Amino acid sequence: MDTQKLMELSNKTIATTYGRYPLILVRGEGSRVWDSDGKMYHDFVSGLAVNNLGHCHPRVVEAIRRQAGTLLHVSNLYHILPQIELSNMLATLSFADRSFYCNSGAEANEAAIKLARKYSRDHFPGERYEIITMEQSFHGRTLATITATGQEKYKKGFEPLLQGFVHVPFNDLQAVEAAITERTCAVLVEPIQGEGGVNVPDPGYLRGLREICDRHKLLLIYDEVQTGIGRTGKLFAYEHEEVPPDIMTLAKSLAGGVPIGAMLATEEVAQSFVPGTHASTFGGNPLATAAAVATLQAIQEEQILENCQQVGAYFLERLQGLQQRYGFIKEVRGKGLMLGIELDRPGGKFVTACMEQGFLINCTMDKVLRFLPPLIISREEVDKLVEVLDSLFAKE
Ligand SMILES: *Cc1c(COP(=O)(O)O)cnc(C)c1O
Repeated sequence: MDTQKLMELSNKTIATTYGRYPLILVRGEGSRVWDSDGKMYHDFVSGLAVNNLGHCHPRVVEAIRRQAGTLLHVSNLYHILPQIELSNMLATLSFADRSFYCNSGAEANEAAIKLARKYSRDHFPGERYEIITMEQSFHGRTLATITATGQEKYKKGFEPLLQGFVHVPFNDLQAVEAAITERTCAVLVEPIQGEGGVNVPDPGYLRGLREICDRHKLLLIYDEVQTGIGRTGKLFAYEHEEVPPDIMTLAKSLAGGVPIGAMLATEEVAQSFVPGTHASTFGGNPLATAAAVATLQAIQEEQILENCQQVGAYFLERLQGLQQRYGFIKEVRGKGLMLGIELDRPGGKFVTACMEQGFLINCTMDKVLRFLPPLIISREEVDKLVEVLDSLFAKE
């Protein structure tokens, strides 16, 4: 069947939850993908911060092949070898002692919300279940996580929402302090907001949140679903400020492209999940956790974080260069290879124009062009994209 017919079939039979670009991507290698007509694209989207090692990283592919031929799935009623290995790695590499596994970022946040409520019930009297989250945040699409999310557009039409969420402006410690009541149990925050427009808080923000949480005996929860696994130049974004949370959620890039979610917690907090309190059939299954182990090994052994820091700093500099030349660029921001440029106008047409020239980029919050390339991207590829952006901006 030709491309046109396949896309018609796609538009006819698949739920209309996504407005899709007229492309079928069929193959990927490193930082590049190819469509069904054989055209190549430099991928600055990475499946939305999933393919941090690039497409089809040989170690991840080999781990999946090996595991698929050995044991694809067994229940969490039994111990699972690659899950043990992964949990041990995450406990070594992060603040956490224990991990719970699921299949997506939203599910990881659901687990974090449930654990925070349960911990509070276990340790404090009264009705203590409220969670403070941030405006412009994004935490997923389940009912609990759209409630936690600080953007109206994700909630509209799905009311009634869950009880127990309070939203305050991002990067505003006083607002958090002011929102605390006798019902508050936790603060949930992305160290850098992703979908909300690549918003980087001031230095000291996480430390301030930690201090507030400690003083009021609240749990601090980081949603590192997008910032985690090297995206900002450290394995976890909280390492930039060395301010650990009590709970952290991961997903997107953790298993190099295989669906996975994880909720990590300290021993003290994790104890509130006793057998029977939470579960997931597929969570942490052999295939997903074997892929995650291979992903973390590659990040540790292949200078991935160094490349992210170096090329990220270079990319940021090049984007700042564009900002000096074009007045309609309001701000350039981000960390590592999670970068955005805020325009004073809608960015959608630039995404389409880049695509025509062989570059996949993303636009969020209507006016923020977002760049999330694989962490293995080269300066040369950054130069090529900046050249394309320059030529498009020159026509404005
Ligand atoms: C993508 C994302 C989620 C949701 O993850 P899903 O796997 O789509 O459920 C949650 N939080 C953040 C910060 C994200 O970027």
